[in-house]
Amino acid sequence: MTRLDELLSLHEEVRRCTKCPLHKTRKNAVPGEGSVEARIVFVGEAPGASEDLSGRPFVGRSGEVLTELIGKMGLSRSEVFITSVLKSRPPDNRAPNQSEIDACLPYLKRQFQLIDPKIVVLMGNIAVSAVVGPWRISECHGRFYDAEGRTFFMTYHPSAALRFPRIRETTNKDFQTLRKQLG
Ligand code: URA
Repeated sequence: MTRLDELLSLHEEVRRCTKCPLHKTRKNAVPGEGSVEARIVFVGEAPGASEDLSGRPFVGRSGEVLTELIGKMGLSRSEVFITSVLKSRPPDNRAPNQSEIDACLPYLKRQFQLIDPKIVVLMGNIAVSAVVGPWRISECHGRFYDAEGRTFFMTYHPSAALRFPRIRETTNKDFQTLRKQLG
């Protein structure tokens, strides 16, 4: 099997997943999308209403912000890979709980292995604490962190950039840092 075949079959598994109760309330699971050859993977928190309806990641208002930030790096959505810690929407967009994160995290780790990007971008507190450690995004954003043989970069979630103009400015700067590192 090629890496692409393995990624597609992993995504099929995600679509059928019943490992946590969110499968009962979701309309569609949202495994993620983009290139298996991506040098950069973006990780959010969990699908929202638009993503749940379409089965695609970051297609709502936060998605517009993320797509624009990716564009400013000179990249398109199809050249990167976009996903979230949870692959199913929590009802009413409540924050993911630890047992949902524990059930879903192996899918994300497998995506990292199969895509093997140069940089994984963790966007927001949930992605940071689920993957690297219990740090506040306000303190760790704009930094790189090496762990488990990978390089992580931490920044705000696009929904925070959408709500607060100051965070939007900071996020723009973080993405410039990212662009330089990617070369
Ligand atoms: N927010 C996320 O964290 N992920 C999505 O896919 C959409 C919004």
